[in-house]
Formats: sequence, structure tokens, C-alpha cells
Amino acid sequence: MNKLFTVLFLSIITACVQREKPQNEIEMNLEFDKYTNTFIEQFWNYYPDWATNVGYHQNDSVLLVPTETTRGLQEQFAKEQLSILHNYQLTTLTDAQKIDYHLIENQLNRILWQLNEEKSFQWEPSQYNVSGLIAFMLSENYAPLEKRLRYIQARMQNIPSYYKAALENLLNPVEVLRILAIKQNTGGIAVFEEDLKDSILASGLSELEKNEMLQSVKLSVESIRGYIDFLTKLSNPTPRDFRLGKELYDKKFGFDIQSIYTAEQVYDSAQLRKEFLHNEMYKITQKLWTKYFGNQPIPENYLLAIRRMIDTLSLNHVTPSTYQQTIASQLPDLVDFIKKKNLLFIDETKPLVVRKEPAYMAGVSIASISAPGPYDKTGNTYYNVGNIENWTAERAESHLREYNHYILQILNIHEAIPGHYTQLVYANQNPSLVKSIFSNGTMIEGWAVYTEQMMLENGYGNNELEMWLMWYKWHLRTVCNTILDYSVHVKGMTEQDAMHLLMNEAFQQEAEAHGKWVRVCVTSVQLMSYYTGYKEICELRETLKRKNDQHFDLKSFHENFLSYGNAPVKYIREMMLK
Ligand code: ZN
Ligand code: ZN
Repeated sequence: MNKLFTVLFLSIITACVQREKPQNEIEMNLEFDKYTNTFIEQFWNYYPDWATNVGYHQNDSVLLVPTETTRGLQEQFAKEQLSILHNYQLTTLTDAQKIDYHLIENQLNRILWQLNEEKSFQWEPSQYNVSGLIAFMLSENYAPLEKRLRYIQARMQNIPSYYKAALENLLNPVEVLRILAIKQNTGGIAVFEEDLKDSILASGLSELEKNEMLQSVKLSVESIRGYIDFLTKLSNPTPRDFRLGKELYDKKFGFDIQSIYTAEQVYDSAQLRKEFLHNEMYKITQKLWTKYFGNQPIPENYLLAIRRMIDTLSLNHVTPSTYQQTIASQLPDLVDFIKKKNLLFIDETKPLVVRKEPAYMAGVSIASISAPGPYDKTGNTYYNVGNIENWTAERAESHLREYNHYILQILNIHEAIPGHYTQLVYANQNPSLVKSIFSNGTMIEGWAVYTEQMMLENGYGNNELEMWLMWYKWHLRTVCNTILDYSVHVKGMTEQDAMHLLMNEAFQQEAEAHGKWVRVCVTSVQLMSYYTGYKEICELRETLKRKNDQHFDLKSFHENFLSYGNAPVKYIREMMLK
């Protein structure tokens, strides 16, 4: 530490006399990079599961037991690291380092808040589940199977104490989370009794090792069953409310979203946005009415009129057998459009590999991006497209209406080009591990939502009114997610009112709306990220347009914005407005 203090001291006295970047400041910057690397290495000792998930495999054999002692060590680590971090002066760091500094600080404060205020270890029983990571270790081929199995064997030694600690931690579990925990842990048993057992038997381990492991599997399953049994029989006449409440919500919003706005300001903005969208959608519906309905009178209730138009346009969709091919064939068209309109540079040396969704992901989503982690930036990026050929006719039809001709294109923009995939290619050029690991989901989702609108503004879809109407409908989902999350967790919205919002005002089908209700009961804040990020990016663009007048260039705005990596929009804003 001595060297650091000397450097600090020198840079303070030299800062005012030298105009060029002083030598000490360069040293200071190198010192800070060294610090962040050491910090991350140490961080993984306290969060080994997270490390495995992002591709750092030194701690794969460690299953931390969630005891009071473990939490005490995590708290001590966070406090120590905060005080080390605060030895660095923000003003002497480079722009990229400033953002890293903020991200580390935010993460450490979040840990302290979780341990001392949120205390979800007392009321969220679904956080205790050992099967997810084991399933991940079995499905990712980062090391020979035998090596991964030995890591798993080491982890299994701690499973009995892990669930024992879980029982001791739980004080007043939330009812929906108790049910979720039973469901997820029950599902997890199959990972042990099927996937893991099969892998052990198929491996090249010795008979002795195999038998030892099978014995551990048996003990692990017993522990999981014990936990399920405890949760099932638990008598808890006054369970904790699943609603987070304003105080915790505001703080969580601060840590997870990292916006210049408060949660309430974003909620108010979403309400206005919803009204704007309804107005625009009704105008389009009126213009298109005779084209689709001839002389039939338009319903007086504007929401009903819009719904009829959306339902009619949704009949324009592909078939189950052409579904995957259609998605794949749209990608080159998107690249061509972006080039023709000069919207941003697309690096074609890093093609997106379209593949059928792997079996272990089946049914999770329609299309998703599998990106290489921060420790393997050169790996392939896959666009997983679901296969719906084996679905029942009724289920497939309902799905295809939802992901109709128009929405399918918007989905490709959002997930792939120039949405998530393009953003990721830019982010990977940024060397900062901190930005990959503590990436800001609000910026990432906000960018994807922003590009949907940006493509349409630039004439994608030939400015067809149908395309705009369907995008507004899609965009309403984002806006209503925000309204829903805040209303439920802070304002006490009932299930009935939530269903009304989603079905009548956001034009969703009952199944989709109900699924969203379930999601909002077991999560909080994350549903705010899409709209908050979108709003902040749009506002930044407008501010820069006003500032630079006729010199504003959309292409450089996009490239410049993405060059900062996965950082909160508020910090990118600070740098871009300098
Ligand atoms: Zn149909
Ligand atoms: Zn997304």
C-alpha cells in the first residue's frame, strides 16, 4: 500500500503545475489496472459460483456454505475493498477507469446493502439451490468430463451443510418464493439422478471413484429432499409480503439500474409513454381501418379498435416449418440495411452463428444469444432459435400469431442486429474485465430497445403503418413492464388490476399476461431496466443533437456510445457530454 500512497501524494502536487499528463498519473493509471485485476481475483474467492458462470474455473470445486460466518467474511471483504478503492482519486483516472471505479464501488455497496438491509437470505428460500450450477458444469465443455466431475464431487461434500445453513437462515419466507423454491429444488433432483448419474457412468473415472460419486449423489439428493420437506411442512401463518416496499425498492433500483432518475420518475415517464403510444396506435388504426375492414364501423372504444386491428395483422405469420429459416435469412438483410443507411459499423469478421436451440435450453425462449464469457472473448456467439415443429397445432398457431411477420423482424433487430449481438461485439473490444463482469443490464436492454425504434425511424420496413403499429404494440410491453413492476412492488397493485393493464391496455393474451404476473411476484426491479435504458439513450441522443446542431452524425453517435462497453448510460453520458 505504501507505494500507492506515494503515487497518490505526488500526483496531487504535480497536477497543478504540469499541463501534460504527468508521469505519476500514468503510473497511477497502471496501478489502478493492477488493482482491478487483483480485486477480481479475490472477489471470486467470495463468489465462486458466479466465477464458474462467467468462465473463471479456479474455484469450481468450492461450494460455499451460506452461514453467518461466510456472510461476515463477505462483509469484511467488501468493506476492505471499498477503503482500498477510495484511495484512488477519480480525477486522476482515465475515462474507462472512472467507469470501472463506479462499477466496483456500486457492487461493493450492493453487497453491504444485501447483507445488512435487504437480507434476502432470511426470506427468499429459492436462492438455496445447488442443481443449477451443476447442470451448467455438465453442459459446458470447458474441461474434460472427468475433471469437471471431480470438481462436482468436491462440491457435493458441502451439500448437506449447505442446506442445513439454509434452514437456519430462513426466518419468514415469502409465500410465492417458498412455492418457487419447492418447485425448483424438486426439478433440480433430476440433474443429480439423471444427468449427473449418466455422466458419471459414461465417464472414464475408475470404478472406485464412480462408486464414491454415486454415494455422494445419494446423500445430495437426500439433503435436497430434506429441504423440500421442510419447506412443504413449514407453518408460517403471517408470511412476509412478496412486495418489496418503497424503501428497499428504491435502493435496489439505485444499485441495479444505476440511472440518473429515481424509480418513481421512470414510472411517471412510462405512464406518459403509454398514453402517447395509445394515441399513435389509434391514429394508425383509423388510417388502416377501411383497408382491412371495409365498411364495417370502427368500435367506439379506441382500445377495442386497436385490438381488432392488431389481431387481424397478427394473422400474417410464417409456418412452423419455415420459422427457423425465416429468422436466419433476415440477418443478412438487416446488415445490408444498416450499411446502406450508414447507421453503424458492423464487423463482419465476427459472424453470428445461427443454430437450433440446444436441448437443455428448450422451451426457455423464442430466440436468444449465447455469448462467450469475459474469459473467452474469442469464442463463438450463437443465435439460438427455438424449434416449434413438434408443438401442438394450437400452441404453434398462438405462438406464431404473437411472433407474426412484423414482430419476428423486430425480435431479430432486438436480439441480433443491431441489438444485443452487435452491442456485444463492440463490448468485447473493450478490454475491461470489470465492465464484462459487473455489466449494466439497463444499458444492454436499453440499447436493444432503442435500436428497434432507430431502425424504423430510418425506414426499415418501408415505413409501413402496419410495421409501426406492431412495433408500438411490442414496445408497450416494455413500457407496461415498468408500470407493472413499480405498481406491484411499491403501490400495492392487485392481480386483477395487473391483468387489466396487461390484457386491455397492452393487448396481451391471457397466458402471456398471467406469466408476467407470476414473474413480477418472484422478481423485482429487473423489469424496469428495458424502458429506463431506452429512455436514457433517446435523451442522450437528443441532447447531443441539440448541442452539435448540424454536425450531429448518427453513425458516430452509435459507435461512440458502444465503445464504452457495458457501462451505465449515466456514465457514458457524462463522458460523451464532456
Ligand atoms: Zn395462422
Ligand atoms: Zn433484450
